Amino acid sequence: MSWIDSHSHILDEAFNDLDEVIERIKKEDIVRCMIVCCYSHEYDRAIALSKKDSRFKVAVGIHPSDVKNLDDDTWNKFIEYASKDEVCAIGEIGLDYYWDKDNKLEQQDIFIKQIEIAQKLNKPIIVHSRDALQDTYDILKKHKVAGVMHCYSGSKEMALEFIKLGFYISLGGPVTFKNAKEPKEVAKIVPLERLLIETDCPYLTPEPFRGKRNEPYYVIYTGKKICELREIDEEIFQKQMVINFDELFKG
Ligand SMILES: [Zn+2]
Repeated sequence: MSWIDSHSHILDEAFNDLDEVIERIKKEDIVRCMIVCCYSHEYDRAIALSKKDSRFKVAVGIHPSDVKNLDDDTWNKFIEYASKDEVCAIGEIGLDYYWDKDNKLEQQDIFIKQIEIAQKLNKPIIVHSRDALQDTYDILKKHKVAGVMHCYSGSKEMALEFIKLGFYISLGGPVTFKNAKEPKEVAKIVPLERLLIETDCPYLTPEPFRGKRNEPYYVIYTGKKICELREIDEEIFQKQMVINFDELFKG
């Protein structure tokens, strides 16, 4: 039995027991784990982990919530690392109008700049979009690029629109929450070849651990829930998740 986590932040300071977290990743057979680096001080550590164990992949990007504090050093370091072979995706990037409503244009500008870098490097993007789905869609429609809508929380109709643009839809812990109707509907209708699963750890912990710190192997609970909703065999589902991950991130 092997699972994937298409979006983790295991270098976040919440993981002061990283060695044990990695042991559990191995023990539970999480065969792919994307390390999404939102901070440049994480870049070298992420690359070192990916060199030691090929299940770990690396993404680097400027998160929309950090656009307001973006300085030249951070931007230049991002550019330098984005082009490295060990970095297989640009992310997470996007728009967040939930936390920051006052700098929408600036967020859009940095989002587009990073998309253009991904296009030039021929790498996929990992998109964060919160309370900004229409603007996100409009930008992606104008810029042909491969990628994934991370922890997608919109409607099933919009999910299908992103899929038409060639995007994958990644679902996380909310799919397991009792009152979360929309993610469950999305989990049922996204074509299997366009679906990914993730933890976004340390955040968004699935049931039955909701409220505790999240970690990559909890993706199993999200995966099992989606299998139950789709009435699909777990092994078939797992295999397809690995194929999708490798297809998008060129494993
Ligand atoms: Zn994230």
